[in-house]
Amino acid sequence: MAFVTRFAPSPTGPLHLGHAYSAILAHDMARAQGGRFLLRMEDTDLERCTPAHAAAILDDLAWLGLCWDGPVLHQSQHIARYNAALAPLAAAGLLYPCGCTRSDIRAALAAPQEGVAHAVYPGTCRGRPLHSRQPEDALRLDLAAALRGLDPMPGFAETGPAHGGQHRIDPTQAQTTIGDVVLSRKGEDIVAYFLASALDDAHQQITHVVRGEDLFDFTPVQVMLLHLLGLPVPTYHHHRLIRDEAGKRLAKRDDARALAKFRAEGASPQDIRRMVGL
Ligand code: GLU
Repeated sequence: MAFVTRFAPSPTGPLHLGHAYSAILAHDMARAQGGRFLLRMEDTDLERCTPAHAAAILDDLAWLGLCWDGPVLHQSQHIARYNAALAPLAAAGLLYPCGCTRSDIRAALAAPQEGVAHAVYPGTCRGRPLHSRQPEDALRLDLAAALRGLDPMPGFAETGPAHGGQHRIDPTQAQTTIGDVVLSRKGEDIVAYFLASALDDAHQQITHVVRGEDLFDFTPVQVMLLHLLGLPVPTYHHHRLIRDEAGKRLAKRDDARALAKFRAEGASPQDIRRMVGL
């Protein structure tokens, strides 16, 4: 079977050592299997993602010696395809409009940050009919309704170091850790991270999703969405996170760890591999 991995950065800032680790790992896993390594810019957050960041990311990856197969997929060019995936979910009665606060929506549209508790939506708007959607409303998944229709619960295989093995969605855990996620953003009609990313894993025929451990808890909802839409569920590999001296996960805003800084100081791609323990 083909072995296809991907690196899917959100171009909201410079790549740091953590991204380098993720990209190198996905690349090397694919190459070791004679497979393909694809690149995807998760750039649907039009306020925070910029073409300059995307260009800098490509430059850093090329410098690291990583070559990707085929053209880069830019999510911002596929909005209609993502929105089309909402129709079957709406027809199944699994979506409802929600006019709750902006910060709530923000938390849902970005990839979740470690250490920031994901606010499980309390369900204030659940039960609102779809036709009551106002231009400013988001669309949320009625998770309980989605879970009710699943028997048996879908599962997924994980090959990462911390959670390796077969997993099955645990409905109680899904409701207490994930809840009714936003699938389409407030006022913008752009599907949010959870859905767009899962849809593209299927679209790009990714067989192995290689990404940070911080996204592990959100995998069940993506698996469930793929299952509901009749799309293939990949194998997941959640890798360890690269941390700073204080043990904190690196984030794009940590410019001190930006690859660009190490490059400017004369580091080689091999130095970067060593720094991240490869
Ligand atoms: N775009 C996400 C990020 O940069 C990663 C999404 C994923 O790997 O599934 O954090």
